[in-house]
Amino acid sequence: MTSNSAKKSVIMVMLDTWMDKPFQHALKEETLPAFTYFMEHGNYYPNVVSPFPTMSVNVESTLLTGHYSDQHGVPALVWYNQKENRVINYGTHIMDLMKLGLSKSTYDALYRLNNEHLNTKVKTIHENLHEQGKESASINPLVHRGSVPHHLTIPGFIRFFVSMDKQIETYTSLTFAYGRLSKISPLQKYSHVWNKYGFNNNFSVQEFTHLVKNKEFPAFSFLYLPDHDKNVHKHGPMDIKGIKDMDRQLQTILDSFPTWEDALKNNIWILIGDNGQSDVKNNRQEALVDLRKLLQPLKITKLRKGVQKEDQIVIANNLRSSLIYSLNTNDVPLGDIVEKLKEDARVEIIAWKMNEWIHVASGDHNGSFQFKENGEMTDEYSQTWMIDGDHSILDLHIKDNTITFGEFPDALKRLHSTLHSHEGCFVVTSVKPGYEFTGEITPTHAGGASHGGFHKNDSLIPMLVTNTASTPDFFRIVDLKKWILNLTDGYHPNSKSKERSKEEEKDI
Ligand SMILES: [Zn+2]
Repeated sequence: MTSNSAKKSVIMVMLDTWMDKPFQHALKEETLPAFTYFMEHGNYYPNVVSPFPTMSVNVESTLLTGHYSDQHGVPALVWYNQKENRVINYGTHIMDLMKLGLSKSTYDALYRLNNEHLNTKVKTIHENLHEQGKESASINPLVHRGSVPHHLTIPGFIRFFVSMDKQIETYTSLTFAYGRLSKISPLQKYSHVWNKYGFNNNFSVQEFTHLVKNKEFPAFSFLYLPDHDKNVHKHGPMDIKGIKDMDRQLQTILDSFPTWEDALKNNIWILIGDNGQSDVKNNRQEALVDLRKLLQPLKITKLRKGVQKEDQIVIANNLRSSLIYSLNTNDVPLGDIVEKLKEDARVEIIAWKMNEWIHVASGDHNGSFQFKENGEMTDEYSQTWMIDGDHSILDLHIKDNTITFGEFPDALKRLHSTLHSHEGCFVVTSVKPGYEFTGEITPTHAGGASHGGFHKNDSLIPMLVTNTASTPDFFRIVDLKKWILNLTDGYHPNSKSKERSKEEEKDI
């Protein structure tokens, strides 16, 4: 850490689906004053690894806890909870939520995600900072657990459909905005910002600029701008309009300071994406891999009915990846599911856990590959492995017992963590770029783009950092927490930074 980073606030702006290639193109072709200003005054790192499946809840949980899902316990946007025998869906589509039962699903997204599913044995950045007597702000991310009790006010239009209390008590950062359910600024006249109940960029920016104007900067602020995701889903990875919109929103943020120089001088800015997206082919027949057809004749749980006695498998689709559960492995061994998936060449990766080993197969590779933790091989993130079989399936490059990754960044740890993230017997699978999984009504994006997959298109995101030359140990989202906590060292004159780092190491 450089000494001039002390006593500065860390402001992290997560720009959903910000990707390097379209951004570089837009920088050349368009006028992007805010991005250009940040680029001129910061360090740009184009390839930061996102966790798998590449979905926002998993990304945010990994970022805030500094652990993959094997520790933080939020596997994906959609997953099957074996204990409760039901599918958890934090919100792919309102139709899915209707089928799952709105009140349970709403409660999953608004309460259980943060207070029950996100492992309470791991601490979030907000919780660690609070212990050090420092405060933080969370504006609009889905994952926001902190140490300060806070009420979410459930708007009447939600309570009209579902039976919920008007207020839910939750724990968050001291400063907390979450769409229409919790806001900081008293502004209400700008009704357009309430589109989508406040889960949009304009609302995030409005709430953040309120903090700026009131000079209420905590040690760490996490501001989430969600909008670009849907632009890219619809128009494909090279959508430029959304990048121009984000630039305008960043200008509004910078303009809320007395000068742009002031904005940079007193703060460390981290602009970061959350996940990338891969293109999805135009032709729906070709682009969409229908798991219901591929897995015939197995009896699949219908979302509306929930798990029935005669059901054999549960499918939890996460766009370009899917978790497929066997409800009884005596009846349907995981090998049966694997063999069916292997029949489709669009299926890029199939992985499952058996006898301590992670097994990997593919629809367009013969042969198989196995690996487990601890062994002779060390990967580029200093993780050690024992491996066996055809490692070309995961595009591993091996030289002198050292593994580097190709198409699938941090491939071993990311598969290993997903397969150890929750109870149940399941296969995780992902499709090649150009394709997307489909099943019982889930959003599909033929002719556009999608994410959730294991491929580097979905998995690599850029990061732009001002006011410090320090970097995380590795360029992965999972490595950012430790670095961010270091950056906030010295922010508070009474901080006990040294004791904190020791405690952090043993926080799980
Ligand atoms: Zn998306």
